Amino acid sequence: MKSVTLKPKRDYSVRRRHPWVFSGAIAEGDAGAGDTVEVLSSEGEFLGYGSYSPSSQIRVRMTSFDRGRVPDAAFVESAVACSVGRRAGFFANAYTNAVRLVNAESDGLPGVVADFYAGWVVCQFTSAGAERWKREVAQALMKFAPFCRGVAERSDADVRAKEGLEARSGDAAFAVLEGEEPPELVEIAEGPCKFLVDVRRGHKTGFYLDQRDARAAVGALANGADVLNCFSYTGAFGLHARAAGAASVVQVDASADALELARRNEALAHACGTKVDYVEADVFAYLRKCRDEGRSFDMIVLDPPKFAESRSQVMKAARGYKDINLLAMKLLRPGGLLATFSCSGAMTEDLFDKVLAEASDDVHRDFQTVAATRQAADHPVALSFPEGFYLKGKILRSLT
Ligand code: SAH
Repeated sequence: MKSVTLKPKRDYSVRRRHPWVFSGAIAEGDAGAGDTVEVLSSEGEFLGYGSYSPSSQIRVRMTSFDRGRVPDAAFVESAVACSVGRRAGFFANAYTNAVRLVNAESDGLPGVVADFYAGWVVCQFTSAGAERWKREVAQALMKFAPFCRGVAERSDADVRAKEGLEARSGDAAFAVLEGEEPPELVEIAEGPCKFLVDVRRGHKTGFYLDQRDARAAVGALANGADVLNCFSYTGAFGLHARAAGAASVVQVDASADALELARRNEALAHACGTKVDYVEADVFAYLRKCRDEGRSFDMIVLDPPKFAESRSQVMKAARGYKDINLLAMKLLRPGGLLATFSCSGAMTEDLFDKVLAEASDDVHRDFQTVAATRQAADHPVALSFPEGFYLKGKILRSLT
């Protein structure tokens, strides 16, 4: 096995079990893409094993800090089995049959994401090490995921390019690794709702499982409300509000395909009196249009895509978050609720709070926080890997 030696005083984060070794911390040593290497301190002390990634800034992703636990096929199988085992509670309580089974670094499998949709598992492999072990990962998922019918791969072009991995797009990005081929759309259940998941062309692996708790929190407050669901994707927040007895729901998204699926998701639900409208529009423009027309709502959901890809974009992203929250705040009726989210990891909770406070200041309205949400429990964050925390949300009530 090849080894990589760190520069003096650059061993601190590995000793604290942080899983990333950046290229700048390495004094010498290299290996092939995905090879397992031994990581040594500048004094030659063993620190752990990791997977080498020659074209990435994150040159080594640590997989084991124990000399006796060499990352081999049995190691990978046991890591997957443990990760799936930690989700037993999800399968026992039956609120949903869609669960993230492996959450990458935080579950001890860097670069590996595996989402379970009603018997079908969809993986993403976003590092050279993950790519190297994907057969073993898929076999273990097939073996340990409950009632698993098939395991497929969706590769994410952007991240793979950074890792120097072959980037495939469109239907070529999808491949069955184990078992049967999943249907075009997989139907999942989440609390009172059902959703169709496009595992081939949908975002991420098809559905935003990470917002499950936030959708329940929004549902709990939506009875009787006129709800505006911005960045609706396939309508999940809006349909939870509908199931909870919202008076009306407007779903807004820029993607016609997402809205089409949202309509089909509504058709899967029990008939009720809630009127649901679908608007294909840019949310920024739509909020301005509502303002100009004097429209108002009891509840507004803002779940935008990532505005900041990295720390350098944070200030620009903060302006984006402020604009959009300010526009939404203006449309709230007195006592109305704003459920607002940021999935940019680089945007800290503190900064997000500050942005919301500034926006409320600018619109001269007082708000109180009634709930705070974060990525659901099947998207855990290792304490040694704070970078794994990205999704935060606030439900604010307007006091004026
Ligand atoms: N709330 C959703 C997930 C939202 S993902 C859920 O719980 O499932 C973000 C969505 O924003 C995507 O569907 C994307 O199409 C949409 N989007 C991105 N930029 C937009 C814009 N400027 N205006 C409208 N929609 C946009």
